[in-house]
Amino acid sequence: MFCPSEFRTGKTQLSHTLCVTAQLPGEDSYTGGKVIFIDTENTFRPDRLKNIADRFNVDHDAVLDNVLYARAYTSEHQMELLDFVAAKFHEEGGIFKLLIIDSIMALFRVDFSSRGELAERQQKLAQMLSRLQKISEEYNVAVFVTNQITADPGAGMSFQADPKKPIGGHILAHASTTRISLRKGHGELRIAKIFDSPDMPENEATFTITPGGIADAKE
Ligand code: ATP
Ligand code: MG
Repeated sequence: MFCPSEFRTGKTQLSHTLCVTAQLPGEDSYTGGKVIFIDTENTFRPDRLKNIADRFNVDHDAVLDNVLYARAYTSEHQMELLDFVAAKFHEEGGIFKLLIIDSIMALFRVDFSSRGELAERQQKLAQMLSRLQKISEEYNVAVFVTNQITADPGAGMSFQADPKKPIGGHILAHASTTRISLRKGHGELRIAKIFDSPDMPENEATFTITPGGIADAKE
């Protein structure tokens, strides 16, 4: 699943919420399981998980024990961490249910910042995404990645349908099955829109960011 959105829309808060909810049993005899969180922006906060755990009446220590945290410092490091991820999934087969990368592109933007490096960046990105797909299928683990979209300064001069493009472009879009874009609504409301899904119609839902994580908007 891929979450391309504007800044401060709740991508990191959603990532934290998923760390907890992925551990809870759910529909279709889902048992819940462990999570790996790869943090590229240093925005992971274990204390947030405690607040979210309270909302779902689960034990702090149990929740924290079930989230394996790794901080990536460069795009190369991020790629290397996938070896560690695959090893973990292999070691504890069936125990892990979710891999989160928040955010997928941040380090690529830093490491390949000039125009001349764009082709190399996209090539490295494609390698990472294909690795993620392989890991996801091999170990039956969901992969959730976030990405920021930026207003494209060149859009005003062309006939582009959507002036706000996700960084990483088509490679990212094609590698993801379900995409949800987040945007700000009135006041504290946020809007999540599902699009280009292979098995779900385009749809929108409003939510808010609460101390207990992402929650349905009450209107
Ligand atoms: P970026 O693009 O900068 O990474 P983001 O999409 O990851 O942003 P988040 O960091 O998930 O955005 O969300 C930031 C928002 O979450 C802020 O508006 C902040 O007010 C809200 N927020 C953070 N912590 C809490 C909390 N404990 N309770 C309620 N709201 C919170
Ligand atoms: Mg964030």
